[in-house]
Amino acid sequence: MVALLEPAVVDKATTLETLLETPAGKRMMTCIQCGTCAGTCPYGEHMEFAPRLVINMLRGGFIDEVIKSDSLLRCVACYACLAKCPRGIRLTDVLLPLVKEQVLVTRTEIPAEFQKSLENMHRYGNPMGESPRKRAAWTATAGTKIPILAEVKRTVDVLWFVECYPSFYARGQDNCRAVAKLFQALGVDFAILGNEEKCAGECGQVTWESGLFESLAEDNMKLFKKYQFRRIVTADAHAYNAFHFRYPMFGLTQPAEHTTQFFARHLDQLKPRLTRPVNRTVTYHDPCCLGRATGSYDEGRALLQAIPGVKLVEMVHNRVNSICCGGGGGGMWLDTYYKQKGMERLSERRVREAVATGADVLAVSCPYEISRFEDALKTVPHDKPMVVRDVVELLAESLA
Ligand code: SF4
Ligand code: SF4
Repeated sequence: MVALLEPAVVDKATTLETLLETPAGKRMMTCIQCGTCAGTCPYGEHMEFAPRLVINMLRGGFIDEVIKSDSLLRCVACYACLAKCPRGIRLTDVLLPLVKEQVLVTRTEIPAEFQKSLENMHRYGNPMGESPRKRAAWTATAGTKIPILAEVKRTVDVLWFVECYPSFYARGQDNCRAVAKLFQALGVDFAILGNEEKCAGECGQVTWESGLFESLAEDNMKLFKKYQFRRIVTADAHAYNAFHFRYPMFGLTQPAEHTTQFFARHLDQLKPRLTRPVNRTVTYHDPCCLGRATGSYDEGRALLQAIPGVKLVEMVHNRVNSICCGGGGGGMWLDTYYKQKGMERLSERRVREAVATGADVLAVSCPYEISRFEDALKTVPHDKPMVVRDVVELLAESLA
């Protein structure tokens, strides 16, 4: 696995004004204006200022023009421009968030659904506006006891960070039940934060609001310091991304793993337990926050190939060339805005590719993708039935 990004690329105090004094900012000045970033951007054709032009405007002292436009509302933080840039310029995780933050401060009109999600994160600690008191309600349906850190009162091996979509959404909770079943099968010593947990804040950071991200990160860090655990495991690719790259700036010392990475690391132990065949043709979608952002392409595929009966087929765009589901960078809450602008939903573009493989399962490893692709399947024509399943759901289905 090749990590494209390293933690602490810029200091958390870096602003658009101070960016060019940092090593990441100095690298931006080496842009050769090749246009690879703009060409690879899934929404590049809809942007007045695609990434190449953002750099050009920054270098020319005209960044205010970019801030005044709504160009970067169309960025779904997919890491494609960053992954393909021959100069290693950090667009997705450094430059674009700093510009977007200024867009948010400057614009008088923010798409309503997006604005609401940011307000909900501030107020309730989750973008859906659900009551924080219900965050752990899903545990009643887990089929096994889910220990809560405040109650176990000892060091645990794994802090399972559940995150918002798996905690509150019915389909996300299927993922929770599958993770719980797999942890139990492996004898993992784990616990969750329960109702104390708050959104990891990745969308606040990579999206628009570093202040929101910092507030959520500081709240979660207080909990991480209050309890004892050896590692964090999460099924949410966005949360994993935040813990891996950003939380070390706030004092996180324990390693973080995505569930696909954790279970792939335990595959020798798990494989003899995967005895129930899942006779399906499966195609795997690489989540941007896991694939292009961290180079973690193999783990999800290794897990699928370990399941008896699974036949793995690839979509035309896979691994580094995978097409974003359109949910990152705030895209989860910008579908109405994109539709008004005549932009195709990326989830539909991706589902068309999945259908073309002839697969009957679209396997994912990020909770955003479940709802995005299940929605897209309602509108994209397909003759053969197709279902969306998280990789861990398929693993749990195969457990004896
Ligand atoms: S891909 Fe990199 S070097 Fe090429 S225009 Fe974009 S930022 Fe500049
Ligand atoms: S992160 Fe993705 S959507 Fe955003 S500018 Fe880069 S390629 Fe385009």
